[in-house]
Amino acid sequence: MKNQWQKGKLIGRGTFGSVYVATNRKTGALCAMKEAEAFSDDPKSAECIRQLEQEIKVLSQLKHPNIVQYFGSEIVEDKFYIYLEYVHPGSMNKYVREHCGAITEWVLRSFTRHILSGLAYLHSKKTIHRDIKGANLLVDSAGVVKLADFGMAKHLTGHVADLSLKGSPYWMAPELMQAVVQKDNSVEVAFAVDIWSLGCTIIEMFTGKPPWSEYEGAAAMFKVMTDTPPIPETLSAEGKDFLRLCFIRNPAERPSASMLLDHRFLKNL
Ligand code: ATP
Repeated sequence: MKNQWQKGKLIGRGTFGSVYVATNRKTGALCAMKEAEAFSDDPKSAECIRQLEQEIKVLSQLKHPNIVQYFGSEIVEDKFYIYLEYVHPGSMNKYVREHCGAITEWVLRSFTRHILSGLAYLHSKKTIHRDIKGANLLVDSAGVVKLADFGMAKHLTGHVADLSLKGSPYWMAPELMQAVVQKDNSVEVAFAVDIWSLGCTIIEMFTGKPPWSEYEGAAAMFKVMTDTPPIPETLSAEGKDFLRLCFIRNPAERPSASMLLDHRFLKNL
C-alpha cells in the first residue's frame, strides 16, 4: 500500500508517532497516514502499537459519515502505517482555538448532532469510544464532525464491561472512576460514559475549555466525583437542558445517544 501513497507534509503528532498527509500516486486522492515505530524494546512504544492495533480492530468494522474512515494498514520495514480518510482542516480543539468566539450556538448544535450520530452508530455496534474530547474529533471544510482516535475504544461482549481508568480526567464520567474501585461494570450502562464526555466536549467547544480545567489531575477527578460541571450561563434553555441530561450522575438514567438525537436542542437544524 505504501507504494500507492506518496508521503507529504506532517499534519500532527500523537503519543504513538506522526500523522502525514499522503497523495495517491494514481488518483491524486489524499489520505492521512499514521506512522509509528513497529518494533521497539521501549515499553512505551509497545503500548502505542497495542493502541494502534486496537484502533484498527475497531475502525475496520465501522462505516459512517461521522466516523473517520479506515482504508487499511501495513508494516513496511520497521514502521507501522495506518491509512485513514483525510479530514481537513482537522482537529476540533484547534478549530475552537482558531475560531474562538465564532462558535455560535447554531454551530454548537450542528457539531453536537454530528458527534451524537457517530456515537449512536458506534453504540449500535456495541462499541464505546471512551475518549470523546475536542482533540479526538475532526472537522472538515463543510463543517462535518467525525469521531477519530479509537485507541481507547472497546468492543463489548458478554455481560461485564471490565472498564479500566483510561481517558482524560476532565472528560471522564464519574461512574468510570467509581467502577474501577467497585468493579461494578455492567455492559448496559457502559455506553453512558461517552454521553458524559460529550457533555464535557460541548462545554469545551462553547467556552474553549472543558469543565474543571482550572484543577489538576487528582483535584479534577475529585471535582468530577463530587460536583456537577457548571453549565454556561449564555447557553439557551434547550442547550442547558441537554447538558443537564448528559450530566445525570446515575449512568442507568442518563439518556442514550439515540434518545438524545430527538432532543429539541438538535431540532430544526
Ligand atoms: P494521542 O495519540 O496522544 O491521543 P492525538 O489524538 O493528537 O494524540 P492523533 O489523533 O493520532 O493523536 O493524531 C495527531 C494529530 O494528527 C491530530 O491532532 C490531528 O490534527 C491530526 N490527524 C489525525 N488523524 C487525522 C485525519 N484522519 N485527518 C486529518 N488530520 C488528522
